[in-house]
Amino acid sequence: MKQIFYYDGAWLDESPKLTGPMDHAFWMSSMVFDGARAFHGLAPDLRPHCERLIRSARSMLLAPPIGLDEVDGLCREAIRKLPKDGEYYVRPMFFAREGFVSPIPESTEFALAVYESPLPGGDGFAACLSSRRRPARDMAPTDAKAGCLYPNSQRALKEAADRGFDNAVIRDPSGNIAELATANLWIVRDGVAMTPVWNGTFLNGITRQRIIRLLGEAGFEVLETTLTHEDLMAADEIFSTGNYGKVTPMVRYEDRELQPGPVARRAREAYFDWAATERVI
Ligand code: PMP
Repeated sequence: MKQIFYYDGAWLDESPKLTGPMDHAFWMSSMVFDGARAFHGLAPDLRPHCERLIRSARSMLLAPPIGLDEVDGLCREAIRKLPKDGEYYVRPMFFAREGFVSPIPESTEFALAVYESPLPGGDGFAACLSSRRRPARDMAPTDAKAGCLYPNSQRALKEAADRGFDNAVIRDPSGNIAELATANLWIVRDGVAMTPVWNGTFLNGITRQRIIRLLGEAGFEVLETTLTHEDLMAADEIFSTGNYGKVTPMVRYEDRELQPGPVARRAREAYFDWAATERVI
């Protein structure tokens, strides 16, 4: 397995055993992470992922002991230490050691894991409508990419798997479409690419923001708007965006079969064309 870890000033081949029962992160979930990707010497949007990590930490009342340049530099150094032809997941994280209910910000520490994770081929996936919902902004720290936000996604994925689906479409507290359990969601209708307007209840994905730009530059009309289950049922195409799989067409939504469509294909091509310019350095 090609992998590398960084903690407390040291590079390690094996995942360090970091926590114990007295650690605040272990007890109270005071941890944030970000997930980027590196493949074939490229690290697309690595800097925005590192920026989001710092923002997530502040939103969870943590005080990052290292700044953006150092996080970004350590991620790049880790990637350079691994074979260039590999495909990796890059996961920097901050977590707190101490605290009672609230973390003690000064006890925040940094850890980094970079490990082999082949890029999926972009084949289609099936999704159902979940009974779970994303929390509103005043119900959870929805502006952070924090581990404590994921149990509902896990339950949505279990519900989907039990029904024979790969992923789950999750609504916001108002009943509008928010995202998938693990990625952002798009539909295409009459050639217009649409994605839920960001309302603070779901992750404003870095891949989502990149695809908004790339599709616009490719001449597509892109609309950030309110979407409902009925919009998905009437869509010409549905696809997902996220760092893990980049752009992936949905081929079944509930009992509706869909074909991978031309807009998702162009979005995926545009993403990988642009990614070729994002060298690790
Ligand atoms: N929503 C959720 C819940 C996610 O976990 C992810 C993956 N990080 C995304 C959306 C996609 O975000 P990004 O494009 O920044 O990876």
